[in-house]
Amino acid sequence: MSSSGVLREAAAGAPQPRPTNQIPDFARSAELAAHTVAEWPADRPIRLAKKTSNLFRYRQDADAVLDLSAFDGVYSVDADNLRASVGGLTTYENLVARTLPYGVSPMCVPQLRTITLGGAVTGLGIESPSFRNGCPHETVVAMDVLTGTGEVVRAEPHGEHSDLFYGFPNSYGTLGYALRLEIEVEPVSRYVAMTHVPCGDYVTAVEVMDIAAAQRSWDGQAVDFIDGTVFGPGETYVTLGRYTDEPGPTSDYTGIDIYYRSVQQRTADRLSVHDYLWRWDTDWFWCSRAMGAQNPYIRRFWPKSKLRSDVYWKLVALDRKYAFSAKLDRIRKRPPREPVVQDVEVPLDTLPEFLDFFDKEVGISPVWLCPLQQRDPEAHWSLYSFDPETRYVNVGFWSTVPRTDDGDPTDGRVNRAIEAEVTRLGGRKSLYSTSFYDRDDFYRIYGGDEYWKLKDRYDPDGRFAELYDKCVSAI
Ligand SMILES: Cc1cc2nc3c(=O)[nH]c(=O)nc-3n(C[C@H](O)[C@H](O)[C@H](O)COP(=O)(O)OP(=O)(O)OC[C@H]3O[C@@H](n4cnc5c(N)ncnc54)[C@H](O)[C@@H]3O)c2cc1C
Repeated sequence: MSSSGVLREAAAGAPQPRPTNQIPDFARSAELAAHTVAEWPADRPIRLAKKTSNLFRYRQDADAVLDLSAFDGVYSVDADNLRASVGGLTTYENLVARTLPYGVSPMCVPQLRTITLGGAVTGLGIESPSFRNGCPHETVVAMDVLTGTGEVVRAEPHGEHSDLFYGFPNSYGTLGYALRLEIEVEPVSRYVAMTHVPCGDYVTAVEVMDIAAAQRSWDGQAVDFIDGTVFGPGETYVTLGRYTDEPGPTSDYTGIDIYYRSVQQRTADRLSVHDYLWRWDTDWFWCSRAMGAQNPYIRRFWPKSKLRSDVYWKLVALDRKYAFSAKLDRIRKRPPREPVVQDVEVPLDTLPEFLDFFDKEVGISPVWLCPLQQRDPEAHWSLYSFDPETRYVNVGFWSTVPRTDDGDPTDGRVNRAIEAEVTRLGGRKSLYSTSFYDRDDFYRIYGGDEYWKLKDRYDPDGRFAELYDKCVSAI
């Protein structure tokens, strides 16, 4: 059997897009992919070819890539039994487009359109239903995973490969690639009604999130979604959303108006379910500001179809590659800047302490908040474990700070300080961006003992990178 359809020379370019309602036969594609991995040249590490990415740690280009685009699409949506069978390379944008016509949605849809189901499960997505539904990996029923042994195994909560099922989240493609996932979906209404609750201080914001999450209601209304936006020490809004079919006007933040500004300007708002799911993508939360997309004069001419996070991601990647901003800073005699692009989770009751530290030491705003709690109290997710009894909050911040060097010329001074504070408070950091842990600390925090058992079993020859090398050393 020829494997050339799957192993691609990177120079030949990215895989071609496929209409999302057509997906090749799974068994045949899985057989081909497994054969390719089994035959992969030992001296060439396997890299996944993807048209898009939401990673923020950059690495050298690989000379050969594994093309798994045959797993980009939806196999089936079963609205009666609230299940969907989905290719691992399918973006949430395409997945949601296939499920909403059936009146159902994945139980946790990450905010950025091009995040894929496999990427969110292995890289820990989160969104405003996470206080009740957990993260995307907690809604997976079973996965077909292509491992480093050149086999496709079915990982489920019970059975022969349950170790892989529970160890896959936070493994970032270092144990195998999810080719097909069976997921739970939930029924949706037509609209989401939102209330932006102003909170003058962090303690109040914690109280609002805690009560709304525990009671799943606020002011006599159901709460299906919770997130929050910090604009500064005295200005935080907790946004509570609820499904509704009541007819009425809806807002539109896909053009001139900008969603995050509306949080400060209105106390109540309504969006279609579709627009609610992508409310943060249009301006990449608020990060489109750095690219001029929020300037009214530029925005008027910016094509609506290009107000998308993947467009901004490409602009940032280009800037990093050619160092435009760094050169401009040098010309203007401004200090070089340290990227601080991170999502961390801390126990909800420590949020005021974390944000006080953050205001003093980092000073980026706005900041995104999203409460979460493990969905199944019995589950043990071995590489990213939560205390099931504790409610956490995800804190997201994506910008740069001036490098000060302050007698410490080490790269990543502010990022290191954040890592230390998060660990001190009993939290943990997502690994999609830069990390600075030393190897021992890293494996202590991210389930090293269990990771090495999984690595020995599913990738004994090291065809895939090792977790530390991939996430910290950025190899
Ligand atoms: C600025 C920023 C903000 C973010 N905010 C959020 C947020 O608010 N909510 C949220 O949910 N997430 C957020 N993320 C994180 C994002 O969900 C993760 O980075 C996720 O892994 C991205 O998925 P992707 O499909 O784009 O994968 P990629 O970025 O292409 O890859 C991520 C990693 O997953 C591996 N991978 C990809 N597909 C598979 C697969 N099928 N099987 C196994 N491994 C695979 C890749 O090898 C790679 O190591 C944010 C990221 C950034 C950069």
